[in-house]
Amino acid sequence: MTEQTTNDRISRKEALTLFKDADLLGLGMWADIIRKALHPEEVCTFVVDRNINYTNVCINKCTFCAFWRDEDDADAYLLDRETIFKKIEETIALGGTQILIQGGLHPALDIFYYVDLLASIKERFDINVHGFSPPEICYIADASDLTIQETLTILKAAGLDSIPGGGAEILSDRVREVLSPKKIKSSRWLEVMEAAHGLGMRTTATMMFGSIETPGDIVTHLDAIRQLQDKTGGFTAFIPWSFQPGNTELGGRDSGLGTGGRTKRAKSKTQNPKPSYGATAVEYLRVLALSRIYLDNIDNIQASWVTQGLKLAQVALRFGANDFGSTMIEENVVASTGVSYAVSMQDIINAIRTAGFVPAQRDTRYNLLRLF
Ligand code: SF4
Repeated sequence: MTEQTTNDRISRKEALTLFKDADLLGLGMWADIIRKALHPEEVCTFVVDRNINYTNVCINKCTFCAFWRDEDDADAYLLDRETIFKKIEETIALGGTQILIQGGLHPALDIFYYVDLLASIKERFDINVHGFSPPEICYIADASDLTIQETLTILKAAGLDSIPGGGAEILSDRVREVLSPKKIKSSRWLEVMEAAHGLGMRTTATMMFGSIETPGDIVTHLDAIRQLQDKTGGFTAFIPWSFQPGNTELGGRDSGLGTGGRTKRAKSKTQNPKPSYGATAVEYLRVLALSRIYLDNIDNIQASWVTQGLKLAQVALRFGANDFGSTMIEENVVASTGVSYAVSMQDIINAIRTAGFVPAQRDTRYNLLRLF
């Protein structure tokens, strides 16, 4: 293997060959060389923030999701303002600089709810609001008879600072048809991101793999992200994370094959996917390394300790990752699958340091705030 340069980016075909045939450690070493060239200071960053999931009511009912509820379910919720404000206060008290606010697609909410929520947060707190992934943006737009551009402009004016890259899953409509038939198609996800970048907002990009996709679908996803980044330069980071099957329809919740917990009947009847068990550690590392190699125009690749645990996240720092994501003072979506790692900020600092890197707190735009 040779070191990659900007003028010598790998093609889709080469990516596919690498992904299928390259030996794991060779792939990791190549990704590590690229990471080192981009981040020679050997710093590994993290942001102190909290996920605030304002509602779990969602009409999409994705087969891979354990978080959604129907409006009339006993444990359905829509957080009130005081609860949201209290969570933000606690986040700031812990040194937090960002809230990640996202939720399900609630049929009773339109743009007025979101504008009022954002304005009321910004009136009270000096904090970056990283919120509402593309499916929510599109849902708000449709519910309010607005274009994506109009919706983003209004939300930005009300206080939305940046957008998380959720809802991408795999940017292949063949895969989306099975995982999330009601969710926006790939082109709309990309349209939201392009519009946000055009308005000067920075966003992240994610990929959820380890379900029913093929290696070709993974390369298709990476290529869509790379092409848009060539055009806009608006992605701050790429975050690959693996499907967590517990309590999900896709993981076999209703076939008795799932990992238990929620016993409710399956509600997405449009497809009947075979149970999927998620990616192995080796598959995770291969995808991570390929992401670092292929996405030569994105500075930061995040390790997902939330889905892989701190120990594999440490290994990920030698497979192309340079960021540990968020401290996640609160996390509900992955936790609803039964996967929950109890991790403190000190645990993250220790994990980064003992992996041989300098831990550093950053802000949403990856400016360094303090070294540890
Ligand atoms: S992944 Fe998001 S859009 Fe899909 S069911 Fe869960 S909350 Fe709804």
